[in-house]
Amino acid sequence: MQYPEPIARLIDSYAKLPGIGAKTASRLAFYTLGMGEQDVANFAKALTAAKADITVCEICGNITDRDQNPCVICTDPSRDQSTVFVVQNARDVMAMENTHDYHGLYHVLNGVISPSAGTGPEDINLPSLIRRLSTNDQIKEVIVGTNANADGEATAMYISRLLKPAGIKVTRLAHGLSVGSDIDYADQLTLIRAVEGRTEL
Ligand SMILES: [Zn+2]
Repeated sequence: MQYPEPIARLIDSYAKLPGIGAKTASRLAFYTLGMGEQDVANFAKALTAAKADITVCEICGNITDRDQNPCVICTDPSRDQSTVFVVQNARDVMAMENTHDYHGLYHVLNGVISPSAGTGPEDINLPSLIRRLSTNDQIKEVIVGTNANADGEATAMYISRLLKPAGIKVTRLAHGLSVGSDIDYADQLTLIRAVEGRTEL
């Protein structure tokens, strides 16, 4: 027997989320059916608003409110303007901020260079980092915090080769972060140690 069309569509939508298989998708869909009308309306509104009211910061590429661009970090004069932490995604920024141990700026690549996936430097938020550095002589160090896997390393090497001739110090997180680990899953102490023990590329 086939599910009625509206529930089939809801199951399909859930199944598009990462880590959600067909079985979980149908469980979530039926759970949604059982929710109160107001809860469902709030849920739907939260989904639409997240998409409509969030944009990326014109300077660093991190997510920000549409009416707060540049973002709160880029516009905070108390942040150390000489250091830029380059990360793969907005979740990595949150992970670092939660350590309360880093007070510089960020640049969010929204991806990594990945020859196997056909993702080149122009496909991620890298050209804007180059522009940012060429128009801002306050930045003295770039810490590369891409993940400790092949694509993350390739991206770090690429950034290093690109920036070193310009006289910018490029460092890489120490890997107490185990190989293959994502920085947004690392615990706070491991992250703090990784930043403290960073090495020059
Ligand atoms: Zn920003």
